[in-house]
Amino acid sequence: MTTPLAPAPGCGAIDLHREDGQRAVFCGLTGIVWLHRKIRDAFFLVVGSRTCAHLIQSAAGVMIFAEPRFATAIIDERDLAGLADCNDELDRVAARLIERRPDIKLLFLVGSCPSEVIKLDLSRAAQRLTAKLGSVKVLNYSGSGIETTFTEGEDACLAALVPDLPREAPEAAPSLLVVGALADVVEDQFLRIFSAMGIADVRFLPARNAAAMPAVGRNTRYLLAQPFLTGTARALDERGAKRLAAPFPLGAEGTTGWLAAAAEAFAVPQATFEAATAAGRARAETALGPYREKLGGKRVFFFPDSQLEVPLSRFLAREVGAELVEVGTPYLHRAHLAAEIDLLPEGTRVTEGQSLDDQLDRCRAARPDLTVCGLGLANPLEAEGLATKWSIELLFTPVQGYDQAGDLAELFARPLGRRALLEV
Ligand code: SF4
Repeated sequence: MTTPLAPAPGCGAIDLHREDGQRAVFCGLTGIVWLHRKIRDAFFLVVGSRTCAHLIQSAAGVMIFAEPRFATAIIDERDLAGLADCNDELDRVAARLIERRPDIKLLFLVGSCPSEVIKLDLSRAAQRLTAKLGSVKVLNYSGSGIETTFTEGEDACLAALVPDLPREAPEAAPSLLVVGALADVVEDQFLRIFSAMGIADVRFLPARNAAAMPAVGRNTRYLLAQPFLTGTARALDERGAKRLAAPFPLGAEGTTGWLAAAAEAFAVPQATFEAATAAGRARAETALGPYREKLGGKRVFFFPDSQLEVPLSRFLAREVGAELVEVGTPYLHRAHLAAEIDLLPEGTRVTEGQSLDDQLDRCRAARPDLTVCGLGLANPLEAEGLATKWSIELLFTPVQGYDQAGDLAELFARPLGRRALLEV
């Protein structure tokens, strides 16, 4: 079922549709796979079923063989039948975990569909365990498929951190907060550019360890590095921080727009901004050159998955000349994506939500050159002769910033190159 919507204010001239129906997306538990690598002294304890444990293990692949910082406390029949006190069991599991792993400083209790259905109160459990476990901070959030889609798991995790962040002194000088888990190498590159712009006090949420989480207050200005952080932004607003409106730092143009928003807020002179970004822009331009030939004119279809679809489409259309057949997104945050929507080519079909069969019909009829979709759709579509790109890689690979612009284009060019090779 699809309904064309009258463009809302700030929706540029896109052709916006909303769909409801069957969906093929991950639940928010998947976020644990990249979040546990980012916050190095955190542990993610999913309170769920064997299904949840299987999901995380398959998504994390070989990482389950390293010393893991995530696990599932499995709710079994005794818990479901009300024969055992789930809270006592959870306390025992958490206490044993912390005893064995003294390196853990932050413990996330992650809610799932089963824990929500039996109404296990994980927020009370987190408070109780924080008091009991002493040196470990225990927080909770939901990664369930009922409440969250894929990257919304990261949003829920970061939003859970915000009320607990240190309070910045009211008279503190303005500070810049970059919000969203980024690869360390990307953070370091951004720090160097901000420093060249003269912005010295730059913090990141999440920080690399529990003790380094950033302070926030009325003088905090924050830049979202990811488009799916609705709840986190709301929580930061409640702490008095102010969002800087910007496109997302994907591709050279997005990165420049994102950095320019900070430059404007911190009154960086134009010449200083130009000097700080010139080398990066030039490197991105050189790296993108070859991809204009490979991706130029290629027709791309996005299934909804991560909420990264709109900025990625903008990048593909404007920086390498791809043609957008349809841009699916699980959720379109009109305000956070306003700058992106303005940059999309006029008339781009954007579909919010999903009715899987209808969307598959449109995709098959259009026969795009490249289909960006989740793992569940990729192989079946390949078997039908369509080239696909797994969207999950866009979360596992460093793609933000000038120096990653070429790598980002490569992620889209690779499936086309592989197909060409196989066809020879
Ligand atoms: S949280 Fe829900 S959707 Fe996710 S793996 Fe567990 S049961 Fe499945």
